[in-house]
Formats: sequence, C-alpha cells, structure tokens
Amino acid sequence: MPELPEVEILARHLRPLLCGKTIRGVDVRREKVLRLTSLKKFRQTLLGAKFADLSRRGKYLLFTLHAKRSGKKIPLLGHLGMTGRMFLAPKNLPLPKHAAVIFDLGAMNFIYEDFRYFGRMTLDVSPLENLGLEPLEQHFSAKVLAANLQRSRQPIKVKLLDQTVVAGVGNIYASEALFRAGISPKLAANKLTLAQTKKLWRAIRDVLNEAIKFGSTVQLKFADGKSDGLFYFGRAETTPDFYEERLRVYDRAGKPCLNCKSEIKRLTQAARSTFYCPRCQKT
Ligand SMILES: [Zn+2]
Repeated sequence: MPELPEVEILARHLRPLLCGKTIRGVDVRREKVLRLTSLKKFRQTLLGAKFADLSRRGKYLLFTLHAKRSGKKIPLLGHLGMTGRMFLAPKNLPLPKHAAVIFDLGAMNFIYEDFRYFGRMTLDVSPLENLGLEPLEQHFSAKVLAANLQRSRQPIKVKLLDQTVVAGVGNIYASEALFRAGISPKLAANKLTLAQTKKLWRAIRDVLNEAIKFGSTVQLKFADGKSDGLFYFGRAETTPDFYEERLRVYDRAGKPCLNCKSEIKRLTQAARSTFYCPRCQKT
C-alpha cells in the first residue's frame, strides 16, 4: 500500500505531465471512487477545466484545476487506496480493465485504475481536515510529536498509523522508523521518554526522506501499461537485494537482523503486521 514517499514521488512525476492540460472528456467507470461527489457534479465541474498544480498531503494527491469559464480554482482529491495507480497513457492504447476514472487530455489519457476501488478521485476534500502534521515539514518537531503521543496509551506502532497524528506514515514506514529508533512497537505511546521521542522523530524523517530519494532514482514507466504502477514495489520481485537494502525489518520475519543477527519477528497489532527485532527494540 502506497505511503507518503510513494505518493510524493507520484506527485512529482505527474505534476509536469498534467499542468497546463485541459480535461476534454470525463469517463467514470466506477462511481464508488467519487464519493461523496455525485457523477453529475463531477462531470460538470471538471469538463473543460485545466490542471494548474498538484501537491501531496499525507497519502492524498491534491490536484488544483482552473474552471473552464470562470477560472475559479477547483480542488480535486486523489487517493490510491490499497491498489490504485494513476498514470498517463497514449489514447490509442487499450484501457486497463479496472480503469475507474479516465480524463481525456487530448493525445493522452490520465487514468486512475484500481482493481479494489478503495481509492478516491473526488471533489470532496473534507478528508484533509482531519490530517495530522506533515512529517517532513518544519512544524513537525520532536516537541510536537511528544505532545501528541502523551495523550495516548495505544502501542506506539498503532499510534503512528493514526493519520491525525502524523500524516502519511503507514505500516511499512512505521515499522522501519521504530526499528531505526530502537523502540519496541508494543511500548505505549505515552511511555516514550523524551530521548526516545527525539530518536523516533529523527527516524521518521530519515526513513521517509530516504524512501523518496531512493524512489526518485527509479525510472517510472507507466505509459506501456505493463510495469508496476507503484515502481519499486514491483521491482522488489526482480531485484530482491535492492529491496532488502532499503527496508530493514518490514516483511523480513525469520531473517537475521541487519544490526545484531537476531531473528526478525512479526506480530499483529490492530489487524496489521508489525516487523521488529526483539533484541534491538527491547523497550
Ligand atoms: Zn537486532
């Protein structure tokens, strides 16, 4: 499932491709992904509008368009859910089977494809209201993180997945950050010492920044319709060394810890898998 770094890379990739392009046609094949916007409103608002900007907030893509006649700003929110992909493809290529929304941009289509349809492409931007701090921005300090954690007795790993605390961190990078910080995923959020919170703050920024840097070196090839939409998740199968180098604990249960050679363990927290080293992450 795509997290902050993957969405950031996608936003950087799509921004120059989309900006300045006008939507000439709106084809919605899975109305579910528009919720809570009606199909009629979606079409009426976006037809003839021009892409002006694209940014990321948490795991969301926030497109800004200018309306056809008035030039009024239109915010359009995208989310990849579990299995979504967003890419441009030449119009002469057959559409993917699970295309949910297709914007006709002239020579190219901008396609949102999602075979489970858990993602979004909507004019409803209310989900942004509840998002927590952006971990890579300056206002995200160790002090602010500490204040947020103090109010919770949930295990720290579970708390990190709460998007109202830190926006964009998901299952992979929560496990990775806790490993780097040497903190047990089971430790209650309000039991972290100030020193641990500082380590965690640093680790969150490091794992996300490294993932963005790493992902940015991988060439994105969406247009042939064959390569994996989320770049390096797909590459993992073909280049396992590359993958292991990047993720130190995630999905490595039973393998030796890269620090101490102990066996990496998997545990289930809030119905999600957590990976950790019992020796490096004792407390
Ligand atoms: Zn270890």
